[in-house]
Amino acid sequence: MLSLHKKMKGLFMFIEIDEPFICEKCGKSVEPLGYTSRDHCPYCLYSKHVDKDPGDRAEECHGALKPIGLENNAKKGYTIIYQCEKCGAIRKNKMANDDDFDLLMKIVAENSFKF
Ligand SMILES: [Zn+2]
Ligand SMILES: [Zn+2]
Repeated sequence: MLSLHKKMKGLFMFIEIDEPFICEKCGKSVEPLGYTSRDHCPYCLYSKHVDKDPGDRAEECHGALKPIGLENNAKKGYTIIYQCEKCGAIRKNKMANDDDFDLLMKIVAENSFKF
């Protein structure tokens, strides 16, 4: 188990390291994932625009990433497609195995006309 606690700055609610956080969007407390770093909320599925490249935290936008779709990749499995509510950038995050899949399906259905 990596102990990277000192790297945590409080500013970043969605951090690359696997630690509990409070979701900025829905206010739920999110437990660590356990097998990889959690990069989005499993309840509302929102993420945060903090990476230029995955995990680098080099992005200064910090806008909310809204889940807008789902991609099924043969190698990587399901990837959630996000659009930043602030700058409009499209990002992708790997789906976690405790994500709310029903909610994801709803989002996909509601947004499918855009694709
Ligand atoms: Zn949430
Ligand atoms: Zn952004």
